Amino acid sequence: FGKLRDGLKRSSSAISSGITDIFTKRKLDDDVIEELEELLISGDLGVTTAARIAANIAKTRYDKEIAPEEIRAALADEVAAILDPVAIPFTLDESRKPHVALIVGVNGSGKTTTIGKFAKQYRAAGKKVVLAAGDTFRAAAVEQLQVWGQRTGCDVVTTKVGGDAAGLAYSAMEKAKADGADLLLIDTAGRLQNKSDLMAELEKVLRVIKKLDPDAPHSCLLVLDATTGQNALNQVEIFGKVCNVTGLVMTKLDGTARGGVLVAIADRFGLPVHAIGVGEGEDDLQPFAARDFARALSG
Ligand code: GDP
Repeated sequence: FGKLRDGLKRSSSAISSGITDIFTKRKLDDDVIEELEELLISGDLGVTTAARIAANIAKTRYDKEIAPEEIRAALADEVAAILDPVAIPFTLDESRKPHVALIVGVNGSGKTTTIGKFAKQYRAAGKKVVLAAGDTFRAAAVEQLQVWGQRTGCDVVTTKVGGDAAGLAYSAMEKAKADGADLLLIDTAGRLQNKSDLMAELEKVLRVIKKLDPDAPHSCLLVLDATTGQNALNQVEIFGKVCNVTGLVMTKLDGTARGGVLVAIADRFGLPVHAIGVGEGEDDLQPFAARDFARALSG
């Protein structure tokens, strides 16, 4: 909790001091509600969600003088109510050998790092994990995954730079099956500049994976960078059109002022949030805990 609280400090301090400014010695009237709403919008909670939260908080407190602490507590309750239903840990389906997880997201969102962090966790739990360097477009992405493979003791399946991502996914599936791996994590390219290319490539990867296992991928995890704020909402929509996103990981919640976007995303899409990234290190992936996040955000 400490790392999350520290990480969200910039998100929460604006909201928290804003609440103090708005509520000190003032009755909760329409103006105050509107100011609260604006404060939440500037905290990236999104217009619809901000309006509903402000209205809910005002419901039983209208025309009363309310201490900032009570508002912070009420805000934490409202945020937790939105986040609770989506705080669902990633679970490994042990009946699959391997459980195939496709990791998608735009370039730089933290896919490769998140794969490394997951690999570390499952290796520590004694599972056999294979990594597939499916972002064949960038040499650096392949190298980075190889480093994670060495660090965590996982085999990494690669192909040459510019190589066929679908072919690579196929080889990785074959290898993971032959090795009796528990989990196969497949990295992908995230070139959103050319959406039709991205879609075509991901569709091809999916087709090829299904040839070896019609139920695969068993998970499709979308990695979102918290610092992109409202843009993350568009990414959920775009990737949702290409693949059946089964869950989200939000990265870079350390030190961003835009962490509130996770609330907007949870409210709008209701997709499971499996984990959050709170740093670049191998241990900086935490299961998503709704109440901790709500408290850390509300200040
Ligand atoms: P990819 O292009 O989606 O594979 O993104 P990368 O995994 O290469 O990550 C892009 C950058 O973000 C790298 O410098 C990572 O170290 C950094 N990064 C990833 N996750 C986090 C996080 O949770 N917190 C911070 N501060 N940096 C992160």
